[in-house]
Amino acid sequence: MTQPLAPGSVIGILGGGQLGRMLATAAAELGFDAHIFDPESDCPAGRAAARVWSAPWDDDGAIQAFAGKCDVITFEWENVPASAIDAAESRAPVRPGRKSLELTQDRLVEKSFIREAGCQTVDFAEVNSLADLENAVARIGRPSILKTRRFGYDGKGQAVVKAGSGLAEAWASIGGQPAILEAFAPFQRELSVVAARTVNGDLKTFPLAENQHSGGILRVSTAPAQASAGLEADALKIAEAIGNGLEHVGVFAVELFDVGGQLIVNEIAPRVHNSGHWTMDACACGQFEQHIRAVAGWPLGNTAPHSACEMTNLIGEDVSPWLDLASEPDVCLHLYGKRDTRPGRKMGHINRLFPLER
Ligand code: ADP
Ligand code: MG
Repeated sequence: MTQPLAPGSVIGILGGGQLGRMLATAAAELGFDAHIFDPESDCPAGRAAARVWSAPWDDDGAIQAFAGKCDVITFEWENVPASAIDAAESRAPVRPGRKSLELTQDRLVEKSFIREAGCQTVDFAEVNSLADLENAVARIGRPSILKTRRFGYDGKGQAVVKAGSGLAEAWASIGGQPAILEAFAPFQRELSVVAARTVNGDLKTFPLAENQHSGGILRVSTAPAQASAGLEADALKIAEAIGNGLEHVGVFAVELFDVGGQLIVNEIAPRVHNSGHWTMDACACGQFEQHIRAVAGWPLGNTAPHSACEMTNLIGEDVSPWLDLASEPDVCLHLYGKRDTRPGRKMGHINRLFPLER
């Protein structure tokens, strides 16, 4: 049994983007000080935190100095290098732990873990060369998707292999890096379940969200998704299998394909997730507070929604009408404090609230 951290304790966050910023804000709401570590000192999270520590990711000494001031350390980004986790862990507990990172940083390792945990995935194959790709396509068929094993996000590092697509071109387009070929899931819709797990293994989920992507980027999440009690129960089972398998502490999200009422796991995010932003305004305890509670050893908050919500990401110039959005009565506006607006960059989001249909 871990002692809950008292208000006034310091929560260290590796990564200073918008997720770190919303975590820092949630930490402050519970009386904690958030310290941010990010190579960029003028980062979105840093400007909402008690203190920013800025150094390159491979500066172990700087990470140790930061960690020495923290009571617990968490991360907003799953590609934090293992060496940074080692350095941090020498000074303070890191939650979630190494297992959550190691099993989700690499798509091949991740999909194998998901299967071992007893959940369904699409068929997949390891691809390390053009010859491997040819064999994998012969086995898995078309359409299929070639993805780099590491560092992909927002649809980056992916190539769709359609009828007639050239395999050499697909292989070149992902830079000939270690990859995985996945069968294309013929899904009716994309869903996600956001869950939190405590140090003691208690787990709670938020209701399923339905997600619309375009150009590989999440645009809109609608929650709670239309879902039978059976489907919600299946999502809870998946979250339990994955959360327990990772021995995860904190929030995580599981992206799902709904194929005729069967849930197929697409990927795991071992952190707060864009498809959970709706919980900030539609639930008494949103995902950011929930994560802070879990890593601080507090009991989990109430995940039941009091409103239905449509979350829309403000990408690039979508953020320009911020004043109009701020004037809409049912809209909760969240801006990330990024200095420059660039195409494809997540600048903020809105949560549009509706009465909950009971
Ligand atoms: P990212 O890390 O960029 O989010 P994903 O694997 O989630 O990568 O892929 C982004 C999007 O591409 C998914 O949300 C989905 O719309 C589509 N996609 C990815 N893999 C598959 C697949 N195997 N079958 C069908 N669609 C897929
Ligand atoms: Mg994804």
